[in-house]
Amino acid sequence: MASSSAASSSRALRIGIIGFGPFAQFLAKTMAKQGHRLSATSRTDYSQRSAEMGVTFFRDVGEFIEASGNEVIMICTSIMSLSEVLKSIPFHRLGRPTLFVDVLSVKEYPRSSLLQVVPEDSDILCTHPMFGPQSGKYGWEDLKFMYERVRVRDHETCSSFLQIFQKEGCRMLEMSCKSHDKFAAQSQFIAHMIGRILAEMGIESTSIDTKGFESLLQLKKNTENDSVDMFSGLFVHNRFARQEMENLGSALEKVREGLVQRMLEEQEKKPIQENDKNTN
Ligand code: NAP
Repeated sequence: MASSSAASSSRALRIGIIGFGPFAQFLAKTMAKQGHRLSATSRTDYSQRSAEMGVTFFRDVGEFIEASGNEVIMICTSIMSLSEVLKSIPFHRLGRPTLFVDVLSVKEYPRSSLLQVVPEDSDILCTHPMFGPQSGKYGWEDLKFMYERVRVRDHETCSSFLQIFQKEGCRMLEMSCKSHDKFAAQSQFIAHMIGRILAEMGIESTSIDTKGFESLLQLKKNTENDSVDMFSGLFVHNRFARQEMENLGSALEKVREGLVQRMLEEQEKKPIQENDKNTN
């Protein structure tokens, strides 16, 4: 893993977005503010929303590919829909070599999928902005941005894209998709898992909440804001998450057993205490 300066050159880019959901719209706001020319396509019709944001919207993915002349195409679909979405892209209609970027929260899966489908003369950059509409609401300063240059020949376009995040003050972390998935299984997946468990339990605020409990309520709220598709994807398409799920299960059992053991020890002591009380 290396924290790097990521990029030197910077210029306005023509960026096309596939999958214009909540996270894509969040990124697009900053990209538009920086002067990049944006277009988008999505399963849902976001024509109105796009017009408000100054983004050209295409209902048809083929027209999007042909008409927009994008230098960068950013894949922002859910993890669970990636393969379906990639199948729907008519790559043969690309008018020029293009930099394909993905922002999915798992990394080995889009890396291998993009290597299979992206034309040989186009480049691939896999990224994960480690923040979202909530944590990045007031700016991206000091928020982490992970990336791997999977196949990059047009360094100038790639640098200009990375500059979008560097300019906003992100901490740029260049690392392999494999390392990302190992770390994310131990951190992000566990956070989402605990948040979902707390939601399943239906925890609610009380009049005597401790700071610790307030953090748990916040965790529950944060994970519920993310889609079930995203949560499922963090597990289904990160091979390291299975082991972390096992670890979580055995840790819960170990902690439970420890407490039950203490309870049994305490119950065994009781008759002695009661005898003591009677003799006093
Ligand atoms: P999401 O639920 O993970 O993805 C929503 C996007 O996926 C929408 O554009 C949606 O299109 C598209 N989609 C879902 N199912 C589809 C299908 N069957 N066919 C075609 N498109 C489909 O929510 P998100 O928060 O916007 O995340 C988008 C991506 O960014 C995900 O890969 C996520 O892992 C990643 N990411 C999210 C965050 C975050 O904080 N939210 C942070 C970093 C990375 P329509 O809207 O047109 O239906």
